[in-house]
Amino acid sequence: MRKIFTPARLRLAVQGGFTLFLVWTALGFLAHVRWALGQAEVFVPKPPAVEGFLPISALIAARRLISSGSWDPIHPAGLTIFLALIAMSLLWRKGFCGQLCPVGLASNLLERLGRRLGLTLQTGQRTRRILGIPKYLLLAGFGWVALSMSPQDAEAFLRAPFNMVADTRMLLFFEHPSIVTLVVLGTLAAVSVVIPAFWCRALCPYGALLGLASWLSPCAITRDAESCISCGRCARACPVGLPVDASLRVTSPDCQGCAECVGACPVPGCLGLRVAGRRVGWWSIAAGCLGVLVAASLLADWLGYWQSPLPPQMVRRMHLIMLGQLPDS
Ligand code: SF4
Ligand code: SF4
Repeated sequence: MRKIFTPARLRLAVQGGFTLFLVWTALGFLAHVRWALGQAEVFVPKPPAVEGFLPISALIAARRLISSGSWDPIHPAGLTIFLALIAMSLLWRKGFCGQLCPVGLASNLLERLGRRLGLTLQTGQRTRRILGIPKYLLLAGFGWVALSMSPQDAEAFLRAPFNMVADTRMLLFFEHPSIVTLVVLGTLAAVSVVIPAFWCRALCPYGALLGLASWLSPCAITRDAESCISCGRCARACPVGLPVDASLRVTSPDCQGCAECVGACPVPGCLGLRVAGRRVGWWSIAAGCLGVLVAASLLADWLGYWQSPLPPQMVRRMHLIMLGQLPDS
């Protein structure tokens, strides 16, 4: 009998549900920006989750947190989400990439399209490693910039009008994409049909950071060599091309915790998920990641690290400065 509850279906459902939540967040943010730009009268508060899309600001806020011990007052939820994703990776590998990230959903759908059209390219292990280098170089560049900043420079960056309205700038950028943006996005999508998860594997510095954190995770996909029939289905199903069929424990920082390999294995119980040596259900990564995110946002809200404390008048003023309708003084 065909199983209904499979890793691939749960993954799609969780990714889809999370993306719908982000669409709802984006609509709220759009209403907030309309008010901030003086295009609507009624004040709409900014949905805090929007700040999760400001990783560079969050990285510098984390650097400031280390040096000053104080939480970023400009984008508090951005720092909360950044730290929550690192905690998530320490516990549940790169479950954010494999189960929640909306770019991961786009990659998943494009990969399915590629497999259906027979266009998927299986990369060898050497190619996989070379493909992964650019994201670490990007991460090293961003990390170097953040760590080499003096505490005063970090403070000045976080309090600059540019950073205060960085989320609005990002919205406007995608609301009115240039031809270059569309060409770049179209190219990335086309390449992702042929090379599954191309953006995540090659270019995403955020994923690279989460991958490094996931090295410390007690959670990993494991293979029982006794019952394995060496069919190779797990490796072919892996979106990031890991040699699952040749590993007893998948510890690569590229593993997204998607559990697609577990779903592809024809031998019951041969592949599974272990946390600190104990076997747990393959669905635990999705559940664990959602749990970390919800717990972090509730805790941050309780501690006052979720809602932006900026007064509405100041927010509108910063937006008008950004539009050039007020001088930056
Ligand atoms: S090893 Fe398994 S869980 Fe990890 S990325 Fe590959 S298919 Fe997903
Ligand atoms: S799919 Fe299962 S049986 Fe086949 S190689 Fe992978 S672990 Fe072994």
